Amino acid sequence: MMMSEPTAFVGLRGRLARDVPLAKYTSWRAGGPADVLYIPADRDDLAMFLRQLPATEPVVVLGLGSNTLVRDGGVRGTVVIMHNPGAALAVADGLVYAEAGAASPKLARFAATHGCAEAEFLAGVPGTVGGALAMNAGCYGGETWNYVARVEVLTRSGAFAVRTPDDYDIGYRHVQPVDGIFTAGWFRFPQGDATAARARIKELLARRIATQPLSLPNAGSVFRNPAGDHAARLVEFCGLKGYALGDARVSELHANFIVNPRGRARAADIEALVAHVRDVVKTKTGVDLTPEVRILGEAR
Ligand SMILES: Cc1cc2nc3c(=O)[nH]c(=O)nc-3n(C[C@H](O)[C@H](O)[C@H](O)COP(=O)(O)OP(=O)(O)OC[C@H]3O[C@@H](n4cnc5c(N)ncnc54)[C@H](O)[C@@H]3O)c2cc1C
Repeated sequence: MMMSEPTAFVGLRGRLARDVPLAKYTSWRAGGPADVLYIPADRDDLAMFLRQLPATEPVVVLGLGSNTLVRDGGVRGTVVIMHNPGAALAVADGLVYAEAGAASPKLARFAATHGCAEAEFLAGVPGTVGGALAMNAGCYGGETWNYVARVEVLTRSGAFAVRTPDDYDIGYRHVQPVDGIFTAGWFRFPQGDATAARARIKELLARRIATQPLSLPNAGSVFRNPAGDHAARLVEFCGLKGYALGDARVSELHANFIVNPRGRARAADIEALVAHVRDVVKTKTGVDLTPEVRILGEAR
């Protein structure tokens, strides 16, 4: 049973809405509506929501939608938006605690300010802590799960559980099984120097501004880097920089980015462009690129 009839929830503090366009909840600024959207007030409120949601209702989570393409027909079921500007960050027992709804760049700056080293890489990953956990986000040699001491997960039935890295199969942009919603993480970063960490964040961000099309809607790297090579190099080698389909275009600045310059691209054009790039690279180089972005929902 889908939530076609409004469910009478009790005691919720978050925002519940129906038929909500998801384009503004994804960094590509494209895609159709969620049947139901829930923005929890906090993790207890989310647990309360899940406990009351019919067990058959499909639930999908989004953080900041910076690695996600929502198809034009939208998502059937309930989409939970985890990003929360008020999400808690704290230091306790030598670990940095971050709620999943905190933006990863905020965690990077918080860790730096508290004298931690090596969290700087998260400053350039424009998603949530939950998204970084789900994706094992990484760059410049750092990877999220290298620093995880434990995570808190909320099951579909609304029960909290604490898990450790041993409970997961972890690899390059790979974490399995993600069978619940990450609600928080405890991170162990080496002791560092706050001034040096803040300087490194500045330097990493400057490097990104110079090499990535950050002023245009995009979802970061579209493809994973194949072993020993770079997807961007292969795409550029195939002459696809600047190649456009409808309003979606392979970035001129970084060939592994697809941009939506006027904010009007259909998700179908973005998806078709991803497929086209993959086909051309396969034909010309023999390398079958694997998409890194996650695709959600139904075509129109
Ligand atoms: C300009 C730009 C640069 C980027 N650079 C990098 C980079 O250097 N390295 C890198 O790894 N990525 C990069 N990305 C991709 C993206 O930012 C990361 O994958 C990020 O971690 C995604 O977080 P999110 O909250 O936006 O996730 P979303 O896109 O919202 O979700 C991604 C996936 O995670 C799941 N998910 C999200 N939150 C939770 C949760 N709380 N519990 C369980 N599952 C969850 C979703 O269901 C979905 O499957 C970049 C993106 C952009 C736009």
